[in-house]
Amino acid sequence: MKALVYHGPGQRSWDDVPDPVLKADGDVIVKITSSTICGSDLHILKGDVPEVRPGTVLGHEAVGTIVEKGAGVTSVAVGDRVLVSCITSCGRCRSCKEGRYGICTGGGGWILGHLIDGVQAEYARIPFADTSVYKVPAALTDEQVLFLADILPTAFEVGVIAGRVEPGDTVAIVGAGPIGLAAIMTAKLLTPAKIISIDLADSRLERARAFGADVTINNADEDAVAKVMALTGGLGADVAIEAVGVPDTFELCTELIRPGGRVANVGVHGHPATLHLEKLWIRDVTITMGLVDTNTIERLLMLISEGRLDPLPFATHHYALSSTMEAYDTFAAAAETDALKVVLGAEPKMLAAPKKKALAGVAG
Ligand code: NAD
Ligand code: ZN
Repeated sequence: MKALVYHGPGQRSWDDVPDPVLKADGDVIVKITSSTICGSDLHILKGDVPEVRPGTVLGHEAVGTIVEKGAGVTSVAVGDRVLVSCITSCGRCRSCKEGRYGICTGGGGWILGHLIDGVQAEYARIPFADTSVYKVPAALTDEQVLFLADILPTAFEVGVIAGRVEPGDTVAIVGAGPIGLAAIMTAKLLTPAKIISIDLADSRLERARAFGADVTINNADEDAVAKVMALTGGLGADVAIEAVGVPDTFELCTELIRPGGRVANVGVHGHPATLHLEKLWIRDVTITMGLVDTNTIERLLMLISEGRLDPLPFATHHYALSSTMEAYDTFAAAAETDALKVVLGAEPKMLAAPKKKALAGVAG
């Protein structure tokens, strides 16, 4: 089959690789019909994620059809169309039993396109299928559910829920990339009084308004703290969601919130940030952080099914799976291309081709 393979920092190619095979009873093989690229894939390509071994197939967000299943898989069947979560859950460890799939200690967590081969490929092996894939209702297209694999639950869980957004809150969201925009979209589910979006790029702020931000601040030329204070009667925001991942924006979030406010850090940081305890200790602030669990996928899926959440505006570009290399170029040049999410779709001829392979290689 063909897949997008990481060959070390700065190096990727669309290669012929062996078809994935079942390795454990709980595995399924999924024929990928839609996939997408994440900012984390660009981090991997920059060499920022050294645990990714050269030779790994990238990608951790997909929709596809189950073409083979291990003997232990009971909740999904061959032929089912499923969403593959970016987080795999063993379903058995203490973390998984508490719904904390992101910190699974039983072999799950973020493994796809990270520790094992991922889903920017024609086929992928998905471990612990019973607890890691979600059946897609027939009425929904791949594209309507694809962003449930990562950005929507990430923004909702690590941003909105961890930040305890409540009706009437003022929510400041720093960063208006896919995650910041998904935070705007999912914060609205909880009826905040005001959503303030802060970014350095006017094109992103324009998107933020389209996604539902009430006020936008370009902090390249405006003093974001002063403006948020002016908008909140000098108090500060109830919640600040950090959706960038650099020290400046984390520190900005701690300055934007009111006493008793919450900072929910979503960004992945590569460098230490300063925690100004000397100023923060007396203000009773709460700071949270974490990797997404994707334990809200089913709830968000329900909202999409009922027409209360529409993720389609994230899909700004479309490519055939075989044009994944070009899709990476477009996604990586977001400042010029204005890309949010790039949808990689299987070619009709590939979908029509029946997959013939033996069940050889099934373990246990
Ligand atoms: P992105 O790079 O597409 O968007 C970041 C946005 O921040 C851009 O619009 C950029 O203009 C803006 N920005 C950069 N510097 C800024 C500054 N100083 N002030 C204001 N805005 C600034 O990233 P994304 O895909 O939206 O992801 C956001 C972050 O979330 C990343 O760090 C990503 O790794 C992280 N993430 C975390 C999780 C998790 O589980 N915690 C999951 C997925 C992604
Ligand atoms: Zn687990």
